[in-house]
Amino acid sequence: MSIASVGWDPDDAPPDGLAATTARLAYEIPDFAFDDVLEPWPPCPRHHDHPLYPEVRGKRAMWVCRRIGGGPIVEVGQLPA
Ligand SMILES: [Zn+2]
Repeated sequence: MSIASVGWDPDDAPPDGLAATTARLAYEIPDFAFDDVLEPWPPCPRHHDHPLYPEVRGKRAMWVCRRIGGGPIVEVGQLPA
Protein backbone atom coordinates (compact mmCIF):
# COMPACT_ATOMS: atom_id res chain seq x y z
CA MET A 1 0.00 0.00 0.00
CA SER A 2 1.28 3.41 -0.92
CA ILE A 3 1.00 6.29 1.50
CA ALA A 4 -0.72 8.20 -1.27
CA SER A 5 -3.54 5.70 -1.57
CA VAL A 6 -7.00 6.79 -0.57
CA GLY A 7 -7.96 5.89 2.95
CA TRP A 8 -4.45 5.43 4.34
CA ASP A 9 -4.57 5.74 8.08
CA PRO A 10 -1.48 6.06 10.28
CA ASP A 11 -3.23 3.77 12.76
CA ASP A 12 -3.01 0.98 10.17
CA ALA A 13 0.77 1.24 10.08
CA PRO A 14 3.01 -0.88 12.28
CA PRO A 15 4.06 0.80 15.55
CA ASP A 16 7.13 2.39 14.00
CA GLY A 17 5.58 2.78 10.55
CA LEU A 18 4.97 6.50 10.61
CA ALA A 19 8.47 7.34 11.84
CA ALA A 20 10.01 4.94 9.32
CA THR A 21 7.93 6.42 6.52
CA THR A 22 8.83 9.97 7.56
CA ALA A 23 12.53 9.12 7.65
CA ARG A 24 12.34 7.41 4.24
CA LEU A 25 10.55 10.37 2.66
CA ALA A 26 12.99 12.82 4.23
CA TYR A 27 15.79 10.78 2.69
CA GLU A 28 14.24 10.39 -0.76
CA ILE A 29 12.62 13.75 -1.42
CA PRO A 30 15.85 15.78 -1.65
CA ASP A 31 17.23 13.16 -4.04
CA PHE A 32 14.76 14.03 -6.77
CA ALA A 33 13.63 17.49 -5.71
CA PHE A 34 17.02 19.09 -5.32
CA ASP A 35 19.22 17.50 -7.95
CA ASP A 36 20.79 20.87 -8.67
CA VAL A 37 21.61 21.65 -5.06
CA LEU A 38 25.30 21.18 -4.43
CA GLU A 39 25.39 22.22 -0.81
CA PRO A 40 24.83 19.47 1.76
CA TRP A 41 21.31 19.72 3.13
CA PRO A 42 20.35 19.94 5.85
CA PRO A 43 23.81 20.95 7.05
CA CYS A 44 25.03 19.53 10.34
CA PRO A 45 24.85 22.34 12.93
CA ARG A 46 27.83 20.85 14.78
CA HIS A 47 30.27 20.35 11.90
CA HIS A 48 28.88 22.53 9.06
CA ASP A 49 30.59 20.47 6.34
CA HIS A 50 28.27 17.50 5.87
CA PRO A 51 24.52 16.86 5.70
CA LEU A 52 22.36 15.26 8.36
CA TYR A 53 20.73 11.90 7.62
CA PRO A 54 17.13 10.96 8.44
CA GLU A 55 16.98 7.86 10.64
CA VAL A 56 14.44 6.28 12.93
CA ARG A 57 15.54 6.57 16.54
CA GLY A 58 13.13 5.05 18.99
CA LYS A 59 9.78 5.76 17.39
CA ARG A 60 10.76 9.14 15.97
CA ALA A 61 12.24 10.17 12.63
CA MET A 62 15.34 12.17 13.47
CA TRP A 63 17.98 14.12 11.54
CA VAL A 64 21.20 12.44 12.61
CA CYS A 65 24.88 13.37 12.46
CA ARG A 66 26.73 10.15 11.67
CA ARG A 67 30.14 11.33 12.86
CA ILE A 68 31.61 10.16 16.15
CA GLY A 69 30.13 12.35 18.85
CA GLY A 70 27.22 13.33 16.60
CA GLY A 71 23.96 11.47 16.96
CA PRO A 72 20.36 12.68 16.72
CA ILE A 73 20.13 16.44 16.21
CA VAL A 74 16.46 17.28 15.73
CA GLU A 75 13.22 15.53 14.80
CA VAL A 76 12.36 15.56 11.09
CA GLY A 77 10.01 18.49 10.54
CA GLN A 78 11.51 20.49 13.42
CA LEU A 79 14.57 21.97 11.71
CA PRO A 80 14.79 25.72 12.30
CA ALA A 81 14.12 27.78 9.18
ZN1 LIG B 1 27.95 16.44 12.18
